[in-house]
Amino acid sequence: MSTADRGTPDGPTRSRAATEETSGARRDRERPSAPEPLPHPVVDNHCHLDIADGDWLSTEEALAAAAAVGVPRIVQIGCDLPGARWAVAAAAEHAALVAGVALHPNEAPRLAEAGRLDEALAEIEQLATAHDKVRAIGETGLDRFRHAQSRTGDEGWAAQEESFRRHIDLAKRLDKTLVIHDRDAHDDVLRVLDEEGAPQRWVMHCFSGDDTFARRCLDRGAHLSFAGTVTFKNAAALRNALAVTPRDRILVETDAPFLTPTPYRGRPNASYLVPHTVRAMAEVLQADLEELCRAIDANTETAFGGGW
Ligand SMILES: [Zn+2]
Ligand SMILES: [Zn+2]
Repeated sequence: MSTADRGTPDGPTRSRAATEETSGARRDRERPSAPEPLPHPVVDNHCHLDIADGDWLSTEEALAAAAAVGVPRIVQIGCDLPGARWAVAAAAEHAALVAGVALHPNEAPRLAEAGRLDEALAEIEQLATAHDKVRAIGETGLDRFRHAQSRTGDEGWAAQEESFRRHIDLAKRLDKTLVIHDRDAHDDVLRVLDEEGAPQRWVMHCFSGDDTFARRCLDRGAHLSFAGTVTFKNAAALRNALAVTPRDRILVETDAPFLTPTPYRGRPNASYLVPHTVRAMAEVLQADLEELCRAIDANTETAFGGGW
């Protein structure tokens, strides 16, 4: 992700999403209709309410639309300093929200190059302790895909790794949940985690591996969070990973406004579309939908250090 210029939770200056999905062809902007509500509420454990995609949904509209279909709680994830400040303020303001704060792996090389990584990490630490509704350090991790695209070289990669290590340390010292972004970096993520020692609670957000990698993460205590990608036609390996994940380690997320589930792939995403993903997951697991929802709801509280 790439973002700029966020406002306060009330402010008008939400930034426009810039993803590989938004570049190129014109997209169908029409807002998908609300799905049938889930039989039991679940939490969207990874959302970027501050990253507006055009004039799509305000924060209040997004929360109301989600609650109406059985998604009454959301973990709001901040990815840079303005985003982390926004997440803390939004969690303080809205009962539905808790927050995660961190510097995204794609932020780290930029900050390191400007000589501002230490200072930024110090503010993340301060934000992490600013409110008891900050439950997570994340998203942090490693991103080989963006690294290759941005050509930041060895120094850029070193900055990503250093930033990831510092966030792991922060999660452990502050007893927060570590939320990991792993894009094309499975082995590197586990190597760094093994070297540093994983915190007590950690989440592999938008899990993107196969069943073998799922087992390696689960062996180390991870909760695996599945996004709209699990509904994509070409995601058989991901569905195999879901199939081997114990029922008490499964989470669901949107990563909104990214990764919109089938049948709305390509349009902006929002938490009220989570039921599409959960229904697809129930099919993969051949699970009773209500039982799966109950499990996801309970798992999210375990993964994020209790209810809210
Ligand atoms: Zn991510
Ligand atoms: Zn994210």
